[in-house]
Amino acid sequence: MEKKILQEYTLDELKCLMDQRSVKRFRAEQIYSFACNYTPIAEMSNLPKELREQLTEEFDDRPVEIYKKYESKDGTVKFLFKLQDNNIVEGVLMKYKYGNTICISTQVGCAMGCVFCASGIDGKIRNLKAGEMVGEVLAVNQLLGGGLKEDRKITNIVLMGSGEPLDNFDNVARFIELISYKSSINISPRNISLSTCGLAPKIKKLADLDLQITLTISLHATTDENRRAIMKVANVYSLADLFESIHYYFNKTHRRVVFEYILSKGNVSKADAKRIASLCKGLSCHVNMIPINKTPNSPLVPASDIKTREFFEELKANGISATTRRTLGSDIDGACGQLRRRVLSEENNT
Ligand code: SAH
Repeated sequence: MEKKILQEYTLDELKCLMDQRSVKRFRAEQIYSFACNYTPIAEMSNLPKELREQLTEEFDDRPVEIYKKYESKDGTVKFLFKLQDNNIVEGVLMKYKYGNTICISTQVGCAMGCVFCASGIDGKIRNLKAGEMVGEVLAVNQLLGGGLKEDRKITNIVLMGSGEPLDNFDNVARFIELISYKSSINISPRNISLSTCGLAPKIKKLADLDLQITLTISLHATTDENRRAIMKVANVYSLADLFESIHYYFNKTHRRVVFEYILSKGNVSKADAKRIASLCKGLSCHVNMIPINKTPNSPLVPASDIKTREFFEELKANGISATTRRTLGSDIDGACGQLRRRVLSEENNT
């Protein structure tokens, strides 16, 4: 029988589970706080030995292990996480003045097939479970010496690693519930960003959860034709569909929406900037301009500095706030899916 992941439960649920096993309720609190600290069951020192044995039979205590770790000169740390079935996913720790942000993966591989992205090259292998996503955060929090609530070392989470979070909707929603749970590491949904290539109906479903997370949209083009050339999802949902769902999200949550926009030749004209402004009318939003990270097979050509500047000025002139994303960790294959691919192919060649 497949074991249950200990980090897949809230404290209240764990109390019920322990009740069913006639384990005293205060034990559930001890187990819960150990689990959130990512302590292995064998090291849950104040539990009786028999209880530890019983738990070990039924539960996985560490759904994710840090398999490899690469530190960039700028302090960014890239992780490869190993899952119980030996699949590998990646995460990135970015250190800012205000705190530490972890970028985590939501799927092994990705089914979306964006031409510029390394995560989708081999398609989707599987969804991550909610407890595995929690494990990515807790493993790094533990490595940094962090604890729970105010003692946490991770302050922000971005769902921008490999995978399409809205293609794993229920597990991602459950992950947000677990990681923001009051007696856990307790990261506020306001400090969580979810990035999507634009699954319009799922954006509405997310809005209906009323979570207060930041919605981030991988936009990358401003006409259906240009978007279809680089993102398969644009064949299913037009820009009109996408923006209808974004407006729905904004009207429901009143949260500022963030757009990610790769700076590629052909998509940074003044007309593109104007179209962004028109699509965003009525929204509070921000555009993150992202220099392209070159990946194998990507047909995209980086925009010139002059074109980028003009695009930025035109956005500004049309009342759209925009910044260029700092490229952190480029010396360690910081972009989506790149590190996993490189390490896996090196290992297969040895
Ligand atoms: N599937 C989600 C989240 C993962 S991708 C999404 O599409 O948003 C996270 C961000 O990295 C997206 O904005 C994506 O477009 C961007 N990205 C992926 N590959 C990139 C590359 N080679 N260069 C620059 N940005 C890239």
